[in-house]
Amino acid sequence: MATLNHTSLKFPLNTGAEIPAVGLGTWKSPPDQVRKAVCHAIQKGYRHIDTALNYQNEVEVGQGIRDSGVSRDQLWVTTKLDNPWHHRVREGFDKSLSDLGIGYIDLYLVHFPCSTDPNDPSKHLPDWDFVKTWQEMQKLLDTGKVKNIGVSNFQIRDLEKLLNDPSCKIVPAVNQIELHPANPSPKLLEYCKGKGIHCTAYSCLGGATDNPLFKEPVVSQIGHAKKKTSAQILLMWSLQRGTSIIPKSVTPSRIEENFDLDGWELTKDEMEALNGIKTRFKVVNDAWMPIKVFFGDDE
Ligand code: NAP
Repeated sequence: MATLNHTSLKFPLNTGAEIPAVGLGTWKSPPDQVRKAVCHAIQKGYRHIDTALNYQNEVEVGQGIRDSGVSRDQLWVTTKLDNPWHHRVREGFDKSLSDLGIGYIDLYLVHFPCSTDPNDPSKHLPDWDFVKTWQEMQKLLDTGKVKNIGVSNFQIRDLEKLLNDPSCKIVPAVNQIELHPANPSPKLLEYCKGKGIHCTAYSCLGGATDNPLFKEPVVSQIGHAKKKTSAQILLMWSLQRGTSIIPKSVTPSRIEENFDLDGWELTKDEMEALNGIKTRFKVVNDAWMPIKVFFGDDE
């Protein structure tokens, strides 16, 4: 890597913008805790916050951003269009924008390649697919209220369909996907790279404090050798693969630990040892959606 100042690192996007490499995730961050967590993170140096309409905490995330006292132009905020809003993109976007109360959104993502019927989430929206959603997403750029648009949870087959459709005038800037050593998805990562789509790694710690990655001997061995925690080793692995990271925590000490990434890096051998982890699991599945989204063919 060109720099060891990972916390001030930014990755270039195909729009000309630069996304801060390290952000704070907020999925499952309770509304009564997320305000403080976001404020704490920003005051400790985080410049990227990831949220979503689906997380039902955008009001509190916005409050935390304003509490921090850091000016809006120093921050990057990502949020996402929820599945039941695919046929009313502008309304979904306006809701997030108004709940966050931050003037504009840096990156707006289609949360999943799956539109659901708002009256019955067990049903796919009839006569609609994500290509139509993307047509509406592209129109959002004219509002000046969103700087970059992208997707999330898109597999190679989804991106192929989208990019090959004549209505697709704008290549997604980002694909936010589950990436950690137990779900490394090298094919999808390589595909996105080839198309100029930056990948953000979600569930980059493995999704929970008690997940199997924290118990992987190679993770703790490398941590011991470098005097770093297992979480820091996992985060650095993601950063050195060229993906931005958005670890979630509402715990002040962990928020700080996850941002203590400067001045060191993993060697090629250490990266290879982590690449050799055989454990496989996914944090996010598609059992709750009306259509299959993950086909396991992105390895
Ligand atoms: P994650 O960041 O991999 O893990 C979060 C869990 O790890 C929480 O239980 C947290 O606990 C704990 N934790 C945080 N730092 C730790 C540390 N240093 N040591 C030990 N445990 C630690 O999981 P995630 O929330 O699934 O993913 C991160 C973010 O990605 C989400 O919050 C969300 O913003 C985004 N995401 C997006 C999608 C999508 O579909 N686009 C899906 C999933 C996630 P505490 O909070 O109690 O500290």
